[in-house]
Amino acid sequence: MNEFRLSESPFLKDKSRPNVAIAHGNGAYKNTMEALSHFDLSPAKGKTVLLKPNAGRIAEPNSGICTDPEVVAAAIDAFNEAGAIVSVGESPISGVKALEALASTGISKVAEDRNCPLIDMDARKPIIVPIPKGRAIKSLKLCPEVTEFDIVVSIPVMKMHMHTGATIAVKNMKGCLWRRSKVVLHMLPPTKDASADPQHAEKPLDIAIADMSNILKPHLSIVDGITGLEGLGPSAGTKKELDVVVVSADAFAADAVSCCLMGTSAMEIPHLKLGGERGYGITDLDNIDVTPENWRDFSSPFAKPPSDLSVEFPDINIMDESSCSACQSTLLLFLKRYKDELKEYLPGDANIAIGAGHKDMPAGSLCIGNCIQKQFRDSGIFIPGCPPVGSEILSAVIGEPSVDIRDGHSEQPNKKN
Ligand code: SF4
Repeated sequence: MNEFRLSESPFLKDKSRPNVAIAHGNGAYKNTMEALSHFDLSPAKGKTVLLKPNAGRIAEPNSGICTDPEVVAAAIDAFNEAGAIVSVGESPISGVKALEALASTGISKVAEDRNCPLIDMDARKPIIVPIPKGRAIKSLKLCPEVTEFDIVVSIPVMKMHMHTGATIAVKNMKGCLWRRSKVVLHMLPPTKDASADPQHAEKPLDIAIADMSNILKPHLSIVDGITGLEGLGPSAGTKKELDVVVVSADAFAADAVSCCLMGTSAMEIPHLKLGGERGYGITDLDNIDVTPENWRDFSSPFAKPPSDLSVEFPDINIMDESSCSACQSTLLLFLKRYKDELKEYLPGDANIAIGAGHKDMPAGSLCIGNCIQKQFRDSGIFIPGCPPVGSEILSAVIGEPSVDIRDGHSEQPNKKN
């Protein structure tokens, strides 16, 4: 296993005091171009540049779930103008095919219009690399492109996230992990130094994202805050219009400023807090130069994700033990559409289980996904799949075939890889 880490950013002038540029009020394309104009992209001349948007799901353009295609279009144009050789790549969540997701979000169209290649980063074999000083993970399987391109640019959309508080530029790099190896981060055991008090224990997922960011710090981050997602992110939340784009060569600084615009703080997002404490980037706003000076005027608080889903779905007991966001998204989208029908078909206590870490299972539970341990699958209704799609859950519950509209997954989920 050879060591690997993305090189120092050629766009970062002062590591101890990074710049963040924000553009507001002029829509996706113009905001992106304006924010990028504060950075000298000339070091990209003649270099290969991988643009990594968030196109992890099948989602319509401007739904707040995936990156706005016009932000990606502007990034392609800016790097083309700088003389770079630009591509766009993605490795989506389990059950989603990269090229289908890129097409659904409108990113394929803007890339093809510019003769910019699209890369399914799951298509080739992974590169396994060690994680130096990793507390929760010791190695990662990377999509090979991440190790081959000269420059990697993270282009996330601002979203609240049920598991991690928020997902912005640092966490968007999780989409550079190969296929289902992303899922492993959601199923890690507690670290050896974890507090025994569950109130104070750091979540292995948060530690793992901080571990990952030690080697996967993007060279530039372009945060799409045109239409973000509040509440039940990363996929079942509500659209939130902000009309901002945030750019920095320090992903932690970009995220810290974005958090502030979203009405939260990097100190409340554990992977940012941990990474900042380890010196992987700057999260202290006092040590970040933000342009323009009145940037805080653009802030508009995002609704936070509920800490307990039973608040959101009071008649349904959701038992989520070490699931990944693919099953969680499937379930949340399913419940948003069908919770009333579900009560008809599951009278009494509606118990729904996802994830691999269950210690027991009430009789009659709806057990969703291949992760449910074999001994519990006969306790109620088991829906196989990784993740299953909404129509499969509906069919299993009502006992007859059904068709669901597309629910954030490819038509034919990848049940192997
Ligand atoms: S079954 Fe669900 S929780 Fe398990 S890995 Fe697949 S998508 Fe994730």
